[in-house]
Order: sequence, then C-alpha cells, then structure tokens
Amino acid sequence: MAKPAAYIDDNKIIVKSQWCKGCGICSALCSNKVLVLDNRGKAVVANPAACTACGKCESHCPDLAITVNRSAARAKNMAPVLPA
Ligand code: SF4
Ligand code: SF4
Repeated sequence: MAKPAAYIDDNKIIVKSQWCKGCGICSALCSNKVLVLDNRGKAVVANPAACTACGKCESHCPDLAITVNRSAARAKNMAPVLPA
C-alpha cells in the first residue's frame, strides 16, 4: 500500500538528470503531478508533498533514472525502539 503523501519529501525521489532523456513517461504517468519536465527537458521533482511512493515513475522509466526511496521514507516515520 502506498505511503501517505506527508511521508515523502524530495530527498526520497531521486532523478538522475544525466540519465534522463526527457521522454516524459514519468510525468505522464504520475497522476499527482509530482514530476514535470524542466526547460532543459529533464524530469524534476516539482511537487514532492503529493508523492504517494506508488513507484510507477520508477518502474516505467526506460533509462532507470528515477529512484523512489521507500525504506528511507518509512524509517523516518517509524516509532523508536525503546530498550526493555
Ligand atoms: S521516464 Fe525517465 S527518461 Fe523519461 S523523462 Fe522521466 S526520468 Fe527522464
Ligand atoms: S512514486 Fe508515484 S506519486 Fe511519486 S512521483 Fe512517482 S509516480 Fe508520482
């Protein structure tokens, strides 16, 4: 199940711009408009708060340019483990 939007920030969605060829697949697939193409034609994270970490952008990028770091997002919101 996708994480709530508040659990994700732009550090959790990493776009390697040097790998991005500007095909626009990620921005077209992201129904939350998190990713857009900038004036260089590269995908950028424009609206990180709306990301649900669904992973569609990551799994459909033909150049493997996107990483959605779900484990870091979860760790940020996990309750601390207290000693017994
Ligand atoms: S799908 Fe990948 S290559 Fe295409 S615009 Fe998005 S990040 Fe760039
Ligand atoms: S993980 Fe989902 S909601 Fe987040 S940017 Fe990618 S497609 Fe959009």
